[in-house]
Amino acid sequence: MAMTIIPFLNLQAPYCELQADLDRAVSRVMASGWYLLGQELCQFESAFASFCGTRYCIGVGNGLEALELILKAYDIGPGDEVLVPSNTYIATWLAVSNVGATPIPVEPDSRTFNIDSSLIEAAITPRTKAIIAVHLYGQAADMAAIKAIAARHSLKVLEDAAQAHGAMYHNKRAGSLGDAAGFSFYPGKNLGAMGDAGAVTTDDSNLAEKIRKLGNYGSIKKYYNDVKGVNSRLDEVQAAVLNVKLPLLDEWTERRRVLAAIYLQQLADLPIILPTVIDRAQHVWHLFVIRTAKRNALQAYLQKQGIATLIHYPVPPHQQHAYAEMHDIKMPICELMHKTVLSLPIGPHLTAADVLTVCHHIRDFYASQAL
Ligand SMILES: *Cc1c(COP(=O)(O)O)cnc(C)c1O
Repeated sequence: MAMTIIPFLNLQAPYCELQADLDRAVSRVMASGWYLLGQELCQFESAFASFCGTRYCIGVGNGLEALELILKAYDIGPGDEVLVPSNTYIATWLAVSNVGATPIPVEPDSRTFNIDSSLIEAAITPRTKAIIAVHLYGQAADMAAIKAIAARHSLKVLEDAAQAHGAMYHNKRAGSLGDAAGFSFYPGKNLGAMGDAGAVTTDDSNLAEKIRKLGNYGSIKKYYNDVKGVNSRLDEVQAAVLNVKLPLLDEWTERRRVLAAIYLQQLADLPIILPTVIDRAQHVWHLFVIRTAKRNALQAYLQKQGIATLIHYPVPPHQQHAYAEMHDIKMPICELMHKTVLSLPIGPHLTAADVLTVCHHIRDFYASQAL
């Protein structure tokens, strides 16, 4: 196999760019002797809430637990149904299953990959309690329509914003578009920690207080437990890392946008379906996902040229072994997406030249196919 010339993701580069600041921040925490629920977390929660434009942010252990805690705090559990996109990372579904509720899949809009709001109403039953809108690949879901439907049926709207830090929709940030949002700071996300971390954002003071309690053993006052909680906290070392990185997020998103624009321009005339950016949305390009019937051949060809690509995702949740009970369900739009999607390398530490190289090899692939 050829040497990798262009990796899919490079997590050393952001560390190198910020090495002095990150080392100083982490050393400061280590020397402080205070590792959980301290100043770094407080600072991050208030900075991230103001970044998202919400009143509250609560740091938690990871993105999956952020969603679970929101569902639990809304008393969603056994017997309840939650509408989820059929096309998403499985964590969206697991959050619902893990609180004992049932995920009900809704097909995506084939232009945006996000939940098709015109299909939501047909999936609502008397058991439906909430809709989880996922801002997949970094573009906000069709929130105006989703919120209007939710209001008509008294449903909660949760955002799975794990891929959409900083994304905008009608001039508001992801994280402030529903009743509450779950974020992940998994290292490969647009805002990544150096381990697992997550957060909930919301304007709902009651919800914020419940989540803070639920994530800390059901306790606000140490050794006094009001509810049966869990341990899901964002530690001081990870918070310190995020405090260094958050001020750079908009700039790093801008670098992603420049690269996405190059892809969109360079690949425009090829037999590829390029990602669509919807009106009044600002995509943050967590992933740059193209679709082509020749996906597998293209991926193999690029691999030979040393260009790493990934498939997000190869198997939809309803066809995973973990969801054997859903195997009879047919989700043809989602299933077709999974057969044709290919994620091209994108990130703040790729250069325009890297992206032009990827485009050049994609063009060569299609030229060779035409012969
Ligand atoms: C990453 C991700 C999650 C889960 O976040 P973790 O921090 O890994 O638990 C949830 N939903 C989506 C869409 C994701 O991409």
